[in-house]
Amino acid sequence: MDASALAALIGANQPCVVLTGAGVSTESGIPDFRSPTGIWAEFDPLEYASLPAFRADPNKVWSFYKPRIAMLTEAEPNVAHRALARLEEAGLVEAVVTQNIDLLHERAGSRNVVEVHGSIRSATCPRCGASYPRDDVVAKLEHAEAPLCDDCGAVLKPDVVFFGELLPADAVERAFELPRRAQLLLVVGSSLEVHPIAALPEEALLTAGRLAIVNKGPTPYDDRADLKLEGNAGEILGAVVEGL
Ligand SMILES: [Zn+2]
Repeated sequence: MDASALAALIGANQPCVVLTGAGVSTESGIPDFRSPTGIWAEFDPLEYASLPAFRADPNKVWSFYKPRIAMLTEAEPNVAHRALARLEEAGLVEAVVTQNIDLLHERAGSRNVVEVHGSIRSATCPRCGASYPRDDVVAKLEHAEAPLCDDCGAVLKPDVVFFGELLPADAVERAFELPRRAQLLLVVGSSLEVHPIAALPEEALLTAGRLAIVNKGPTPYDDRADLKLEGNAGEILGAVVEGL
């Protein structure tokens, strides 16, 4: 593990944009999705996190999201989240594009965060469009298995992107624009498997930007990266920040 090489790469290639995936939050006790012990090994996403499933049986989908929102709300940002916030504060990271819905970048102090898969910040009524902040949703879940709209009684949908649902257009546009202008795209804790976000390195490479990857396990871009560090995001990014 050579965090000093990564620190040097970040220092020499500005602006730097970061893309994070589930691997940045596993050290906060949040399981990832696709590993053998991940969430989708236990729950079929088409049954618990897809738009057709929600339309057919929203209460079943909430039987998955109720404990998940409780767990994400109790989780704390880890060293990796804090390191990225420090790097932004130091002017070395322009923005964090994240596939995570857990709000941990924001809670760690990152300001410029692009959430391409939505977040648990709020929920929306699919019938009348009323929006509810997370505190209201959590309060409703104390007394019910699924949160209902105060106005029309429909089951609320969390503002996370479900399978079969389009990604939020503004966030995606921004996510693709940032690496085009960046000198360095730093991928942290993503195996770059979920499209369209998995194609972001292509945008950076097309415009002659550099690519660095911090991940446990291979990604399709390892061969084209200027630097690939294999290991825990917290350990590596923590060491980068200590070396500043
Ligand atoms: Zn409603």
